[in-house]
Amino acid sequence: MKRRDFVAGLTSLAGVTACTTEAPVSGGSQGLQESRFEWNLVTAWPAGLPGLGVGVERLAERIEKSSNGRLKIKVFAGGELVPALEVLDAVSRGTVQMGHDSAYYHRGKVPAAQYFTTVPFGQTVHEINAWMYYGGGLQLWRELYKPFNVIPFPAGNTGMQMAGWFNKEINSANDLKGLKMRIPGLGGEVMQRAGVSQITVPASEIFTALQTGTIDAAEWVGPYNDIALGLNKVARYYYYPGWHEIGPMVQCTINREAWDSLPPDLQEIVSVNCQAINLDMMADYTAGNARALEQITLDPTVEVRRLPDEVLALLKELSEQVIEELAVTDDWAARIKKSFDEFQRISAPYQNISELAALQAREV
Ligand code: CA
Repeated sequence: MKRRDFVAGLTSLAGVTACTTEAPVSGGSQGLQESRFEWNLVTAWPAGLPGLGVGVERLAERIEKSSNGRLKIKVFAGGELVPALEVLDAVSRGTVQMGHDSAYYHRGKVPAAQYFTTVPFGQTVHEINAWMYYGGGLQLWRELYKPFNVIPFPAGNTGMQMAGWFNKEINSANDLKGLKMRIPGLGGEVMQRAGVSQITVPASEIFTALQTGTIDAAEWVGPYNDIALGLNKVARYYYYPGWHEIGPMVQCTINREAWDSLPPDLQEIVSVNCQAINLDMMADYTAGNARALEQITLDPTVEVRRLPDEVLALLKELSEQVIEELAVTDDWAARIKKSFDEFQRISAPYQNISELAALQAREV
């Protein structure tokens, strides 16, 4: 972070103190005076978006309720207070106390942050939670964000995504060549190397881009969020699996001075509620995806298809190249990759003989 930004951060933090009203509250067994806090939280999501948007609103409500109103959090949708992709900057500067978005939106500034959303062929939701809470991931993440004056918390996950909506059949690796696809991040870099013309459009514009043929394909999230955008009305083939986003985590970020201003019990309330929303959002997506997929499979204009093995093998090979190059150019990415890969290496054998084997057995 530039020194100028840091100084600006300090200045605006005066604002944090100013909006923190301290009013004595009667009661409390030790007669302690309880401070009250009013925080602003900015997100990258459209207001009321199923899963992500609703999840963060629930997080704020639960924190207010479980703190007995001592910590009130006002949630702002993407673009309302700060641009959707500048959540981390706003929290870092202290413009707001809290943020909710995806770490990989900030890959331009913090390339290694991508590991704290997802990397292609990376960890499932179960694995990333295990790596976070019991595998050293959270400590590395907090160290990575320290220079930005921000404390991160896992606060949601969309679970396994889909490869995306296509208006052209993908029967071989050759079919990727020349395809115009909306796919951001490392997944987009991988697709580009496979011959795809990678295009970035925000979620709100995917529908029109597919409808008008500006793009041939687009990935967004999965059935629950994709039908909310109406993508099933403008594309024929719905391909799986979402090789590029296997268990993408969502982050809650808190400005360090704002965090430090909270008494320990409120800090614990925030921390526990972030963990609760991490579980709640996954449950919401699991239920929502189930119902939405049923709706999609009943629609005769849509075909749900698996990407051919040949295509997945190519994407895996290219993903390894892209991830390796990131580690070569960025020391933090190299350090986090080591921890992430090591965890996935020891985790995979048990996932294979438990979740994977059981899901296969259910279909026997
Ligand atoms: Ca996605």
